[in-house]
Amino acid sequence: MDKIEVVVSKSKDEMSSKERLLKVASLGQPDRIPIICRGRYGAKYFGYTEKQLDEDIDKYVEVEVGTLNEFGGDCVYGGITSGMMEEVLGSRFERLQDTEPKSLRKPLIESPADIGLMIKKVDNLDFERGETLAMVLSRTRKLKQAVGPNIPVVAWISAPFRSACMLRGTSQIYMDMYENPELVHTVQQMLMKLWTTWTEACVKAGTDIILTSNPTANSVNISKKHYQEYVHPYSKEMFTALRNKGFTIFFHPCGDWNDRFELICDEGYHVLHVDQVDLASIKSNWGHKVGIWGNVKTIQTLLQGSANDVKQESIECIKKAGKGGGYILGANCVIPRETPPENVRAMIEAGFEHGRYVG
Ligand SMILES: [Zn+2]
Repeated sequence: MDKIEVVVSKSKDEMSSKERLLKVASLGQPDRIPIICRGRYGAKYFGYTEKQLDEDIDKYVEVEVGTLNEFGGDCVYGGITSGMMEEVLGSRFERLQDTEPKSLRKPLIESPADIGLMIKKVDNLDFERGETLAMVLSRTRKLKQAVGPNIPVVAWISAPFRSACMLRGTSQIYMDMYENPELVHTVQQMLMKLWTTWTEACVKAGTDIILTSNPTANSVNISKKHYQEYVHPYSKEMFTALRNKGFTIFFHPCGDWNDRFELICDEGYHVLHVDQVDLASIKSNWGHKVGIWGNVKTIQTLLQGSANDVKQESIECIKKAGKGGGYILGANCVIPRETPPENVRAMIEAGFEHGRYVG
């Protein structure tokens, strides 16, 4: 692979991207508002499918570094992609070329007896020897080497509940809450241990910031009562312990979580990558506890709007949540692959033009 040069920002930045994001994580005010454009447009821009990137370390690093240089932003992405860990454990998904795995073909955990076998499997998992996981750690090391110490590498890891959905089947887990509650608890206890040791391996390989997300426990999926009983205890235990180890953790509550913010603000995250919220009230209600990241609309504005629409909405977001720091400009979810490159650039330009703190 040719050596990849990282273009040094030509603006008047006083902090590095890593310092800037860590400043937001500690609820402080950096030199300017950091910008994270998490999405799949980079793969399309450089002409690769998601599957190609999952299978080829050099192509993956080329896209991450190339996207950073071509578009800007304050981080790159390493780590695992959704479903990869569960595939290593034996789950099989319907997988399209350019998206995350869509649906589980057959539940891996069909009865409580299967959990014992799974626990054995998890206990014997050697991250450096298994093909997929060793590849992910190796590309994290390569990516960190390519971008250097000033650009943070962000790695996604799964929340225990979401991972349980990918082993057992999402609708089956919802049924289990009524019919087989013990199973929901036991599976997550096993997964907490697995994802904690995996996170430690990722950090050792060069990951600077951990990102987790959950699209399976919002208010459309399960009640607040069920969230409190089945999801919150495991997320809280795992992410608080990781935070106490000194790791920086961002969380994307995907969908509508407005009725359970007091619970997620108690789960150990430094920053929330918010989706369906009123940004100004989230900032004023929870900005003293967590940093806020978001929330230009991915579909309506970034994918379907004009560059000017993106710019205006980005400025609105900065006005609503940027004051005093503790804020990252970005979309409200993963930016789709088909998003026009000029729209991603418009968000980044708006951040540079309107996101600088003075004094
Ligand atoms: Zn989302």
